[in-house]
Amino acid sequence: MAKVLIVGAGGVGGVVTHKCTQVPEVFSEICLASRNIAKCEKIRGQLSRSIEIAQVDADNTADMVELIRRVGPQLVINTALPYQDLSIMDACLATKVDYLDTANYEPPGEAKFCYKWQWDYHERFKEKGLMALLGCGFDPGVTNIFCAHANRVHFDRIDSIDILDANAGDHGYPFATNFNPEINIREVTAPGRYYQDGNWLTTEPLAESIEFDFPEIGRRKAYLMYHEELESLVRHIPGVRRMRFWMTFSDNYLKHLEVLRNVGMTRIDPVEFEGHAIVPLKFLRALLPDPASLGPRTKGKTCIGCLIRGTVDGKPNTIFIYNVCDHERCYREVSAQAISYTTGVPAMVGAMLMLTGIWRRAGVVNVEEMDPAPFMAKLMMHGLPWNELEGKNLYRDVLVD
Ligand code: NDP
Repeated sequence: MAKVLIVGAGGVGGVVTHKCTQVPEVFSEICLASRNIAKCEKIRGQLSRSIEIAQVDADNTADMVELIRRVGPQLVINTALPYQDLSIMDACLATKVDYLDTANYEPPGEAKFCYKWQWDYHERFKEKGLMALLGCGFDPGVTNIFCAHANRVHFDRIDSIDILDANAGDHGYPFATNFNPEINIREVTAPGRYYQDGNWLTTEPLAESIEFDFPEIGRRKAYLMYHEELESLVRHIPGVRRMRFWMTFSDNYLKHLEVLRNVGMTRIDPVEFEGHAIVPLKFLRALLPDPASLGPRTKGKTCIGCLIRGTVDGKPNTIFIYNVCDHERCYREVSAQAISYTTGVPAMVGAMLMLTGIWRRAGVVNVEEMDPAPFMAKLMMHGLPWNELEGKNLYRDVLVD
């Protein structure tokens, strides 16, 4: 029985709140806090259990400290934006409370994300006997767990990991992003980056692609991108020669993105306009549909998985571990589309494992450092069943060296 404080009442925060209310034996009390209290009220109105709500500016550590002291949680689940990671971690340290998030820190003025800023908190969390669990969504999150599971159960040595993320959902808008537009567009317009034989190699944004036959979705073009789990997996899965991340985009999405980029609307530096300094990407965000509003309109499925090649007992083998999630089923259950759902369920599962002491380690921890077995079991029970395909020639066409 524990009290949890969820910060950020967007698409993901809503799902985490719904899923926590489904497990009252662990999450006996819940407080949802966000910058805009109306968003908390809206989510509270969808629930069958009562929860507390609060207003907070999570950029302000003193406000967060005051809120944590008032609410008294055992764990803070950060589902606000990556910009708030460090201020919330500072508040957790000041109040001696555990921390969990789904995305690594990114400074607002620079489209650069990496774990260094948060890994630098390791000693401080360790000294206080606190745990900070990083990247506990789907990718990062479940994809890291799939790799840890494969490393433990299926292979003596892993040679390559290709993470493949397909969203075949259709929301009917000409252009919208399925999670926070600002974070999404910063990620997609960044150069591609992958790991090969001890080096990081860089590509032009979305310059490389493959065709992949996704289970239950079919063949889709997936583009090479840099994604944050590559950084921690290279550190924690020993011996991997190559690691890449691929994501599908519709031609329509790419066409809009190209135009927006060409006209400067994806810029993150302030532009002077009629006496005001405006960041074009922030302005664009205000025009685009709120990801939380896509839920009732989105039809179709997501498929996210890890294609892993290696050897077992001296013989080569390949495995694809994946989850397929249906947008409409998610909406019926928690009033959200599948991208928020596939992020929110793992955050709830990670929180449950921490609060019940099944996952416990002092310091700043990435999910693949913990035992994957209980997490894999809980995914099956809480709405994200996974599947495995296996065979030495599996997806041979996309594994060219
Ligand atoms: P949303 O934009 O829908 O939600 C973010 C919420 O945080 C909003 O309610 C926002 O409030 C609130 N917020 C922003 N700034 C502050 C602040 N300073 N203080 C308090 N609250 C604040 O985003 P999503 O729900 O789609 O994404 C949430 C997080 O999940 C992001 O970090 C994203 O990167 C991550 N994510 C991770 C994935 C994974 O698989 N690991 C996949 C998808 C997302 P307001 O309404 O006022 O703007």
